Amino acid sequence: MEKQKKALAEVQLEKLSECPVCKGSDFTASLTCKDYTYSQVDFSLVDCKSCGFKFTNPRPTASTIGNYYQSEDYVSHSDTQEGLVNKLYHLVRTYTLQKKLQLIFKLRGRVKKQGKTTLLDIGCGTGAFLSTCVKAGFEGRGIEPDTNARAFAQNNYGLQVDEEAALELFSAGQFDVISLWHVLEHVPDLDSRMKKIKHLLAERGHLIIAVPNCDSYDANYYGKFWAAYDVPRHLYHFTPATLAELAKRHQFKLEQVLPMVFDSFYVSMLSEQYKNGKSNFIGAIWRGFLSNLKAIKTGKQYSSQIYILRHES
Ligand SMILES: [Zn+2]
Repeated sequence: MEKQKKALAEVQLEKLSECPVCKGSDFTASLTCKDYTYSQVDFSLVDCKSCGFKFTNPRPTASTIGNYYQSEDYVSHSDTQEGLVNKLYHLVRTYTLQKKLQLIFKLRGRVKKQGKTTLLDIGCGTGAFLSTCVKAGFEGRGIEPDTNARAFAQNNYGLQVDEEAALELFSAGQFDVISLWHVLEHVPDLDSRMKKIKHLLAERGHLIIAVPNCDSYDANYYGKFWAAYDVPRHLYHFTPATLAELAKRHQFKLEQVLPMVFDSFYVSMLSEQYKNGKSNFIGAIWRGFLSNLKAIKTGKQYSSQIYILRHES
């Protein structure tokens, strides 16, 4: 507790005067959300008046936001399979890893290219997805800022994973596929990161971005208790419209939007906990189910979505 207090006292806040997507400077106040998982501190969200982009403002500076991340014990995490929830978690994880791999095979199938597919997974965490791709024959590299997660990926899977500074060392057009699975909402300098990604992506290459959708049914239902606001770690709160705007501004073609159907259940479970102070398994399953059902009707408002962007020169 003392350690946490000290870490939080060191945090510095910055107030953005420009919208990270369109550079507009007029914002309206949106929700105020609490950091339920770590500090219990409140953070405000604002909406850009010009493009509608919702973001956390003020927010911790890039050099101090690390104090809002708890370092986790990855070894025990990934090894435990006890209990129903853990068993379910592992089943879902195995299934979704295979689905992600199939997706990349499908995307690459449309591009006739000789040789191995080169993939960069930014924010690869402990490397489960990257390792699946490497085993399937891709030439995969990872970027991960967390020291412990990076070490786990290197030691456990033998993967090539570097810190963020390595992004500067890759060459132009080096990668056929760049993926960010629930990562872009954490990146402090959105504009320069998008430019860097564009630079590293081969022509006709694919950029895969998975992010929560704050226009989903579960986001609207839970409001400020919606777990995927996850302030202050989530700096941005995308919708299909604002993600499309970001893609357009960086000259990417938005090729496809795909659902992540398990996220509504997971997010609803956490949101129930935040809203009521206790878990509500049945209620969460029901909300998660309703969210997917409504999204099937609208076609693009799932709790979390995968956006497939194409490099257009
Ligand atoms: Zn804007």
